[in-house]
Amino acid sequence: MKKTLLMALCLCMSASVFSQKMSKDKNLLISSIEKHKEELIKISDSIWALAETAFDETESSRILADYAEKNGLTVTRGVADIPTAFTATYGSGSPVISILGEFDALPGISQKTSPIKEPFKEGAAGHGCGHNMFGTASLGSAIAIKELMDAGKITGTVKFLGTPAEEKYFAKVWMVKAGLWDDVDVNVSWHPSASIEADVQSGLSLIDFIVEFYGQSAHASMDPWNGRSAS
Ligand SMILES: [Zn+2]
Repeated sequence: MKKTLLMALCLCMSASVFSQKMSKDKNLLISSIEKHKEELIKISDSIWALAETAFDETESSRILADYAEKNGLTVTRGVADIPTAFTATYGSGSPVISILGEFDALPGISQKTSPIKEPFKEGAAGHGCGHNMFGTASLGSAIAIKELMDAGKITGTVKFLGTPAEEKYFAKVWMVKAGLWDDVDVNVSWHPSASIEADVQSGLSLIDFIVEFYGQSAHASMDPWNGRSAS
């Protein structure tokens, strides 16, 4: 009994030391984001106004790549033979954490930053699902991780992947073929939405399957022993 209590106490203590360290690192990340906030918002607004569609995101890609470079990340432009695709990395060794950033717009939905339908230019392209924020916030995260590394808090590699042409053509396919994820341990992504949530969606690395029930229902996990075929 004493031994169990001691073990529980040790676990609680290490958990609280861990959470203190976690929240300290988290605060450093937050202050890094705060430091870059105004410039990041400016970048996001510029990409919104540029509204460049698939494979024509020349300026949007350049703005993001330049900001990554300015903040000390090593930028490689035109990866996978796509002029608007780029990587921005920092650090060395494992783990290698990649962060996706999209920035392409959609044709025909030009829109000012206004709550009513008000195009910049009638019939021109616009951002439909917030890729102006997607690319910018992801790069902001990569820079914040880089700054956490500089502060000596974590080690490894952060790899921002500027991924063009998501709305059309899916440039990531060529980027995967070019081996840009071969050294990656974990890939993190997000997307602007009406709600804030963390979820897992299916992908090639997540295998799912379909289960079909025939005959009398067994009420799934409630009473599986009663399930039997009607035939
Ligand atoms: Zn989208």
